[in-house]
Parts: sequence; structure tokens; C-alpha cells
Amino acid sequence: MQPSADAPLPFAQTAAEVMAAQQVALDSGLSATEAASRRERYGPNRLPDVEHRGAIMRFLLQFHNLLIYVLIGAAVLAAAIGNLIDAAVIVAVVVLNAIVGFIQEGRAERALEAIRGMIDPHAAVIRDGQRVDVAAEDIVPGDLVLLEPGTRVPADLRLARARNLRIDEAALTGESLPVDKAIRPVPQETVLADRTSMAFSGTFVANGTATGIAVATGPESELGRISALVGTVEKLTTPLIRRMDQFARLLTVFILAACAAVFLFAVYVRDYPWQEASWSSGLPSRPPRGLPAVMTIALAVGVQRMADRNAIIRRLPAVETLGSVSVICSDKTGTLTRNEMTVRSVVTPEGVLDVSGVGYRPQGGFTDNGAPVQPGSNTALTEAARAAILCNDAELQHSDDDWSAHGDPMEGALVCFGMKAGFDPALLRKQLPRTDEIPFDTEHRFMATLHHGHEDGSAIAYIKGAPEQILSMCDRQLDQDQIAPLDAEDWHEKTAFTARHGQRMLALAMKRLPKGTQDLSVSDVSQGAVLIGLVGFIDPPREEVLSAIGECRTAGIDVKMITGDHAATATAIARELALAPEPQTLTGDQLDDIDDTDLPDIVRTMTVFARTTPAHKLRLVRALQIDQDVTAMTGDGVNDAPALKQADVGVAMGRKGTDAAKEAAEIVLADDNFASIVAAIREGRTVYDNIRKVIAWTLPTNGGEGATLIGAIAFGLTLPMTAIQILWINMVTAVALGLTLAFEPTEPGTMTRPPRKATESLLSGTLLWRICFVSILFAIGAFGIFFYAIERGQSVDMARTMVVNTLVVMEIAYLFSVRFVYSGSLTWRGMLGTPAVLIGVGITVLAQFAFTYLPALQSIFATEPVAWQDGLLIVGIGAALLILVELEKSIFGFFARRRTAAPKTAASETAA
Ligand code: ATP
Repeated sequence: MQPSADAPLPFAQTAAEVMAAQQVALDSGLSATEAASRRERYGPNRLPDVEHRGAIMRFLLQFHNLLIYVLIGAAVLAAAIGNLIDAAVIVAVVVLNAIVGFIQEGRAERALEAIRGMIDPHAAVIRDGQRVDVAAEDIVPGDLVLLEPGTRVPADLRLARARNLRIDEAALTGESLPVDKAIRPVPQETVLADRTSMAFSGTFVANGTATGIAVATGPESELGRISALVGTVEKLTTPLIRRMDQFARLLTVFILAACAAVFLFAVYVRDYPWQEASWSSGLPSRPPRGLPAVMTIALAVGVQRMADRNAIIRRLPAVETLGSVSVICSDKTGTLTRNEMTVRSVVTPEGVLDVSGVGYRPQGGFTDNGAPVQPGSNTALTEAARAAILCNDAELQHSDDDWSAHGDPMEGALVCFGMKAGFDPALLRKQLPRTDEIPFDTEHRFMATLHHGHEDGSAIAYIKGAPEQILSMCDRQLDQDQIAPLDAEDWHEKTAFTARHGQRMLALAMKRLPKGTQDLSVSDVSQGAVLIGLVGFIDPPREEVLSAIGECRTAGIDVKMITGDHAATATAIARELALAPEPQTLTGDQLDDIDDTDLPDIVRTMTVFARTTPAHKLRLVRALQIDQDVTAMTGDGVNDAPALKQADVGVAMGRKGTDAAKEAAEIVLADDNFASIVAAIREGRTVYDNIRKVIAWTLPTNGGEGATLIGAIAFGLTLPMTAIQILWINMVTAVALGLTLAFEPTEPGTMTRPPRKATESLLSGTLLWRICFVSILFAIGAFGIFFYAIERGQSVDMARTMVVNTLVVMEIAYLFSVRFVYSGSLTWRGMLGTPAVLIGVGITVLAQFAFTYLPALQSIFATEPVAWQDGLLIVGIGAALLILVELEKSIFGFFARRRTAAPKTAASETAA
């Protein structure tokens, strides 16, 4: 229930008053039916969609372009001098151009919309007394919402319980430091930034846990009120496309200036009638306008393909950056490994017990060197199992003969282990209820819970965590039925020994606390605890990761593992995954001893960084960036956000990642899988290649047309094409042919090239050379056929018809060549093309037949039917162009290979 205007505001009321007003009880929450009826009443908890530009406006904006203005001017001019057909053709072209632009833009925007919906936030609430996960959109006033570190607060909440809660409110108030929160009411007149009894929608939990009552949702929340004022629409663009857009504008101005010069030259030097001169010089082509549009489509196609491969792009520039990634820093658990944990060993002072069983099914037993061990007969085993169940937030669920874990998979495995040792988790948790806890965090690497119910009435804390951490908290150990002094050295050896087999190690401990202790703090357990034992888990590597790592190796991408796990475990997994022939490992502590100046050199030689904290991740990214490495970094926790922001491509985990990590990242992996990062890099390289192909095709084909016209004017020749024929070529080929390049699949060998340098210019020397080379070939082809026809006594109209057809055929031929820029020569598979290419070519061929043989079009474009022999000649010219360009490509490729091979040979000779 949203508060009424004159009632005291929720932050000024006590939590109990707010709960009464919202008709909700702290332990049970709302019922599902009540939540549904409130959803009806208050609507979904989301901000209203930002108003998109209307379709008519978007269509009209297609005309807002310098070249279109020139074309419209030309149409008016044509009409003024009585050339109505030309005027009508120009208008038709302008309108068609707008329709195509409109459709392309719509398609690109839809692609974006589709992926936006894939990262819909979720939230944990209490309904009908159970913790359930709901879409943030379904939260209603009165819902009890649970907050954990990294959660994005889904609605405005009046806090009812809070433990060490600190919230990052930068999104709302601009305050960069997290704010302490508590449940105490604050006065009614308190300003937003000081309302410490509230958690506001859109802010992030920096640490601590809490339960809050939703008091305002959707547009009623504080964020909703602000967003209504500043709503924005994300533009489908990247720095590259913006640069290309600027380049296109510059080119437009340059072309217009050149046109003016050609016009003056044509009229005053070559004595062309001014009407004809104005046509040919005023309508060169429309390439610069089409180029950014097709590049945008290539980008949208890439975003869509990445989403199909489970990599959801949150910030578009990442699509470009991905193509040049040279180092991937990946988490281990869940990203390189499956995060399907099973307890395999229990280490006690007496020895190592092996644990049998598969997955989360609680069936299996214990053996000591092959001899079965009864759980009840081994005190350390029983105590370990008790601690494993109690110091644990996960639950195992049994349905359809299948067992699954709810919560952290490692904790799920611990419950399973406890059940194998004969405990009933529900019963045990009832007998020894928990009154307080210290949640796990990656900084301290342990978790502790406080329980009551022992016969002697004492309180007991159970602790679990990284062995080094737990050992530093213990001074005694459980030895058979006795409590003996701790033999720390022996335990460290045992840990390292088991970890070397790739097992993830966890230590379990307990500590009795004075009767009546109700709260647990770190100082209560930081010393004097009793070590129970160690458990070792297996977490098999993901199968697909092995080949993805192989792909990175051929693609010149270095993979580094950054993990919170033990050095020996991490190194063993790195070896299993073949991250490096002999993986070198550095621990977080060792990292702390290295200063920033030495770090880049050391980091380069290391493969595994173990026992690291999120702060180490930030240092590592910075060190890699000093060496100009383009770094992709994965993360999931709230503290990973700074490193994700610093990385060139921050990658958050979609499943186990916190909202804060997702918000900071450029990419969210829907399946948390390392292989998906590599797939996204492959797509990133493909998008960049396709953008280059679009440029490599568009500029020379239009350059060729321009060169033909300017050449004719410069030498005072009859123009080989009329203005509206040029418009025809540009319309048909730019749409039907140029666009197909945006859909090109990944070229073979894309992942055997080294990463593109981030500083590399899109218009490289090779590309500029090719633009000139192909432009000249086009001009030669066009002039050649023109003079051939004239020489043979054919009419100018016929000659022009042949020129237009020759140009289009050459454009088709060049399209096939451009499709393989990197993998050298054209293959038969390349000739067969993709469906997009074949459809594009089919449409173009049909359009050319209509242009040449359809009487209606003949009278508009002044064309004449070409004889079949001439038709064959035209196709022959296309084939010749293809052969010449392929030849040039192989010669260029040969020298390029020699250039790259030469330094290597020199280096190896020196080494020899
Ligand atoms: P990665 O950083 O590769 O994703 P990680 O899960 O090994 O993997 P952390 O989550 O930082 O890294 O965990 C570090 C260590 O803390 C683990 O090796 C384990 O010993 C301990 N640990 C992890 N989860 C818990 C937990 N829920 N309770 C207690 N200790 C834990």
C-alpha cells in the first residue's frame, strides 16, 4: 500500500507500524494470492518505458541528411527545367532510401530490445513463509524483500531487519561512499540522503544483509520519480560507428566540393551544357550515407549472435573491444569448472577418509584405505558432518528421482555429505537452531553460525572456510574423542597434499561460547576455536572449456586464472585445463609484496593467481593494461565491480553474479561459462571484419563510379552513364548487395589470427590501396565497354545500358572477393555464398534484367535491350575483375606473410 500524502512517511515510522500499515507479518510475508491482487492494484514494479520516437518521426528523420537535401535540390532543379521523369526518379530514390533506412533502423533497435529483456533482474522475497525468487517486476507494496551483498534494491524498502548493512546510493544521491543503514526511524523532515531506515530502489547493497518491507514500487519509488524526468534512450552506436559517421560527413562535404569543382570545370573548360553538367557532377553517389547504416546493422547482427551464444552485451562499444581482447582473466569456480561440487575426502588427525557417491544424491559411504567406516564410530567424522549441515545456507531438494541443491553448490555438497553421515538436516537444524551468523565474504574467507540447544545450555559456533584462515583461528583440534593442541604444520601439509590433486579444500571448526550468547561477531571466533577436520571437494572442469582454451591459444589470447581458491588446487586445475604447459602460480600474499613497477613483467609470466581478493583483481587488470593488453575480466561479487569497470571488457556471471557485478560489466554471461567469452570474442572479431568488408566493398564500388564520371568530364568525353542511372546502381546494389556483408558468418581462420591492435586504424594502408586499385579497375571496365559499344556503332543509350550492367556485374564479382579478406583466396565454398548473399545477388540480377529489358523501365532510364553475346562479355568482365583482385590479394598476402615471418626468422637466428 503506497502511503498517503499526509500520513507519517515510512522512514519516520517504526518497522512494526509500517508492517501493520502494509498488513504483513515479518516471518510469513504476503501470501501468493495477496501478492497477485496487489500486483493488479499497483501494477508492475518497473519504470514506464521511455517514450520512443514515433514511427512517423523516425521516418521523417531519414530525410535529415546533407546528401538527401542535395538530391531533393536536384529533383527541384530537374522539374524546373522540365525534366519531369528525372525529377520523379530522384524523388522515388529518396523515398525508397528513407524506407530502407527506416526498416534497417527498426531491425537494429529490435535486436537491442530483445537482448535488453534477457537480463531482467530478480529478487528474493518471503511469501507464504518461504523464501522465493521472483522477477523484480512482481514485487508489490508490502512484500518482504531480502537483501544481500551485491543485490540491487528492487523497490523502496523500509528496513525491518538489518545487519551491518551499507548501501551504495551513488545512483540516487551521487554520494560515492556507501551509507550505513539501520532500522531506527528518522524524523519526517529528513532529506533523502539521510533516510537511514530506508533502502531505495536502484541502489546496491555494499555489505551486510537485511529484510525490508516494500513501501513504494515502480514509478512511485524515488528512482521512478527521478527517471521520469531524465529518461533516455540508448543509441545504437559505438565509437567506431561514430568515427565512421564523422568520416562519412567529411566525405560528403568533400564530395560536394569536388562536385562543384567538376561542375565548373565541365561548364567553363569542357563546354558541357550546364543542365547535363549539373547532373553528372551533382549526383555522384550516396556511399557515405549508406555506410554507417550498414555498419550499424552489422553491429546489431553481432549483438544478436552473441546473445545466441549466451553473451549478453550491456554496453555496445564492447562488441568492438571484444575483437581486440588479448588477455582473458577468468574466475575458476563455475566459469572454468562446472561448479557441481561433491565431497570426495574428509581429513581428520587419524587419516584421510574417502567419500563415495555421485552428485547431490545422498547415497554413498566412507572408506579408510578401502576399509568401510561406520559414521557413528568416528567422532571427527560425525562432528564434521554436524558442522557441515549447520554452518550452511543450502538445501537439497528431491524431485522425480533427482536431487538438486538450492543455494551455493559447495554448501549443497556439504549437506549431502552430512546426510551420507546419517544426519537429517531439517531435524538437526531444528534441534540446534541458529540465532546469528557471520556470512561468508571473499575478503575473510570464512562463515560462522551460532547455535543453541546443547544439553549443557551453552552456545556453540560452527565455522567453515579456507583452511589457512580457519587454522589461524584455532588453537586446538579434535583428536579421536579428545581435544588436543593444534598441530598447524601437519594440517597445512595435509591441505597442500589433498589440494595438489585438484580438490577444493575447506576446514571445519567449532567454538563453545558462554551461555546466553545471542549475537556472533568476528572477535568471538577469531581465536580459540577447535579444528574438526578438512573436507575436499571435486569440481570437474567444464568439457567445452578445454577446446575454448585451445582456441584462445591459436588466437593469440592469453588466459589467466584468478581465483580465491588454494594455490595447489588452482594449479592442478590449470594443468588439467592446459592453461599453460607448466602453469606458474602467484598467491595474493606474494602479489602484495610486489610493487606496481615490477608487477607488469611478473604478471605476464604467471598463469594462476590464487587466494586473491577482489582488490588484487583491480591491480592485475591495471598491470596488464600498462602493457597495452586489452583485458577481459570476469567477476561475480559486489567487490568485483571496480575491477570489472577497469577492465576493457568486464564480464559478469548471469547466474551466480550479483546485480552490482552485472551493472558494472559490459557483458553478462547467461551460462557463466568461459567458452561463451571465447564465442563472444569470435563474434566480436567477425563483426569487426564485416564492418571492414562493408567499407572495403562500398568505397571502391562507389569510387569506381565516381572515377568513371570524373574521367569522362576531365577528358571531355560523352558521359558513360546518366545521372539517374547512377542513382539506380546505388540504390539497387547498396541495398541488395552491400547489406549482405553485414550478415557474413565468421571467416575460416578468424581465431588463428593474433588479436587486432586496439590502436589499429580501420582504414589501413592495405584497405586504402585496395580502394584505389578496385576503383581504377571499375573505371577501366566501364570505359572499356563504353568505347567498345560506341566503336561498334551502337547508340549512346545502348552503350550506357552496357556500362550500367558491367558496373553491377563487377560489383557482384567484387562482393564474392571481399567476403574473404583474411583467408586469402576464394574457395568453392566462398563462391556458393550464404543465403543472404544469394538472395542479394538474385534480387540484383532480376532488377538488372528489368532495367534492361522491361519497356517501362527502358523509357524511364533510357536503356536498350542488350544482346546475349554482349551480356556474356559483361559477365566475362566481371570474372576478369574477380581474377585480378584475387591475384592482387595473393601477391599482397605473400608479401605480408614474408614481412611477418622475417622478424621471427631473424630472432630465431639470433637465438641460435
Ligand atoms: P573463484 O574465485 O575461482 O570463483 P572460489 O569460489 O574458489 O573461486 P572464493 O569464493 O573467493 O573463490 O572462495 C575462496 C575460498 O573461501 C574457497 O576456496 C573456500 O575455501 C572458501 N569458501 C568459499 N565459499 C565458502 C562458503 N560459503 N563458506 C565458507 N567458506 C567458503
